[in-house]
Amino acid sequence: MRISGVKWLIATALAIPFCSGAQTGIDPDPVTSAKNRAMVAKQQEEAAKNKRKFIDPANMDVSVKPGDNFYLYVNGNWIRNTPIPASKTRWGSFDQLAEESSKALRELLEEAARNPGANSLMKRVGDFYASGMDSAAMEKQGYKPIKKYLDAIVKLKTKTEVVDHISYLRSHSITSPLYSIRVGQDSRNVTQYIINIGQGGTTLPDRDYYLKNDARSQAIRKEYVAYITKIFSLCGADEQTAANNAATVLRLETSLAGTQMSRVEMRDPVKLYNKFSVDGLSARTPQNLKWASIFSQLGYAVKPDSVVVSAPKFLIFIDSLLSSVPVDDLKTLLQWNVMRDAAPYLSSAFVDANFAYNKALSGQKEQTPRWQRVSNMVDAQLGDLLGQLYVDKYFKPAAKQRMMALIENMVTTFDGRIKNLDWMSAETKQRALAKLHAFTRKIGYPDKWKDYDGLSIKKDDYLGNLRRCNEWRYNDNISRLGKPIDKTEWNMTPPTVNAYYSAQKNEIVFPAGILRFPFFDFDADDAINYGGIAAVIGHEMTHGFDDQGRQFDANGNLNDWWTPADADEFKKRADLVVKQYSDYVILDTLHVNGRLTLGENLADLGGLSIAYEAFKKTEQGRNGQPIDGFTPDQRFFMNWSQIWRNNILPETAAQRILTDNHSPGMFRSNGPVNNMDAFYKAFNVKEGDKMYKPAEKRIRVW
Ligand SMILES: [Zn+2]
Repeated sequence: MRISGVKWLIATALAIPFCSGAQTGIDPDPVTSAKNRAMVAKQQEEAAKNKRKFIDPANMDVSVKPGDNFYLYVNGNWIRNTPIPASKTRWGSFDQLAEESSKALRELLEEAARNPGANSLMKRVGDFYASGMDSAAMEKQGYKPIKKYLDAIVKLKTKTEVVDHISYLRSHSITSPLYSIRVGQDSRNVTQYIINIGQGGTTLPDRDYYLKNDARSQAIRKEYVAYITKIFSLCGADEQTAANNAATVLRLETSLAGTQMSRVEMRDPVKLYNKFSVDGLSARTPQNLKWASIFSQLGYAVKPDSVVVSAPKFLIFIDSLLSSVPVDDLKTLLQWNVMRDAAPYLSSAFVDANFAYNKALSGQKEQTPRWQRVSNMVDAQLGDLLGQLYVDKYFKPAAKQRMMALIENMVTTFDGRIKNLDWMSAETKQRALAKLHAFTRKIGYPDKWKDYDGLSIKKDDYLGNLRRCNEWRYNDNISRLGKPIDKTEWNMTPPTVNAYYSAQKNEIVFPAGILRFPFFDFDADDAINYGGIAAVIGHEMTHGFDDQGRQFDANGNLNDWWTPADADEFKKRADLVVKQYSDYVILDTLHVNGRLTLGENLADLGGLSIAYEAFKKTEQGRNGQPIDGFTPDQRFFMNWSQIWRNNILPETAAQRILTDNHSPGMFRSNGPVNNMDAFYKAFNVKEGDKMYKPAEKRIRVW
């Protein structure tokens, strides 16, 4: 689920002046003194003893000049020699760690399934896992687990019954048709919760898939229609009916897509904030959507007086669509929503049909193994139970201390950089600093675990378990209306290999799962940890000051704290970043969308720049002594580049260009360094090198 205001970290042959020519022969600044030689020898000895190479020359392609393509220079051999596993769509640093996380979860879950009596925590996660692994039971059931929901839809007769039934489906977490609705912080008054209503109703990953007529979009629509047809057939429809239903679903979803805002339009938090009284909203949707009655059907104990709507035009369209479309077509759409949400968790015929459709979208060759699908599902559904088992076994409390110290260094450095900005007035700087020092810092795992009170998990009912988990979360969500904000909760589970910034909570969050190499390692030198996790810390901090985050104040409120002149200066610089990234191309012709990825690119540029300056304050940052043949500065930039290395299937790359607000790995590596003087110095990048940008053109925002 998309939670507004939350940014995730992630959803690549010429002589080098200091290169000896051998594959591993990067011999930077000559080591002159005996003392230095002894120090390097000692470091090398220790590295050899630990058998750890944080920068492994075997991964590099030294036939590529670092100034021509830094990403390929650092990672070229790794990219050539590391195939994507058949059940993956992308394979890189994040994916490898995520794989380790899911293997760790599998062990914990298998143990819990074997020993369910140990305690209630073990029993619930163990039973959930067992239910998902019991494929024989699912085979026997076919589509029986959803039959009663489909039958109930068949019985609907009038438009009013259809509209009421939509609320029923939603409040029982069976499916959420047409639009999204959830309780969240009120962006203009973050001490309170409010109901947020957003656009929805489509299945394909972006509205473009419905609206564009290029060959790829057409081919994917064809696969989608085949998928809908197949699922209706599996649920008992004859061939003709199934085909007709598929055409109806595509037609209705296309009309919804045509009214949705684009991903770029949705980056504007001011445009997304449209507050209505409940009566005022009903007046805008007079034909079918009477909101006071809908909220009571949805189970809200507190009667809301107002709501925030991100896309009013879309709701108005839904209201008229409900009038103009025959009841039978709406029933088909609702049935499809039920089938679609359940298909991946039913018998193999459903799972295979779902996989064939996903394969067309992503290129994935083989289905993700069942143990992995189920482990990840238990993590997603019962993350606060499974997370407790995970951190007990895998999280070192000392990591939290190290992270606190790193964050402190980063905040101090960012503070200095804001004070030194030449484009911002003293007035705006003061507010920026207030915001910086107000960040809440969360590391490893939540202080308070959810207990999922009242949630029942059965050993023989996988789909039912999923539905009950969703229903528990739904009730938990709607019960918040009128209550104080829960500041302890996390939007990611502890094993997650990711990090995030929340604008409304003004917090930076780092789950245990990312506190591993190449991001972080107790035994690594500072260059590695600053080029890794410190840059990630900087990335999350800079989100507070990117094109969206800068519109929220120190308290998390959507509230403009900029002088108009300073805002103009910011936009001028941000536009340069848009231009730089829009020029990047993948798969020969697909351009990065510089507007869609702006927030992430600003965060990468700011994060790496702050991390570099903070690194230069460390002993290693000052001493310049090489390790394993690389200077500290080189190691800093090289580790940044290696965290972004990945191989990705072309189908997935094409999809992500449309849907992912993060740039592809190569540009996350190269985009920021391209603007940093220290990079040019560290690798002797000169005019004529492909990445070379004249000093006056290098972009600095934060
Ligand atoms: Zn980010």
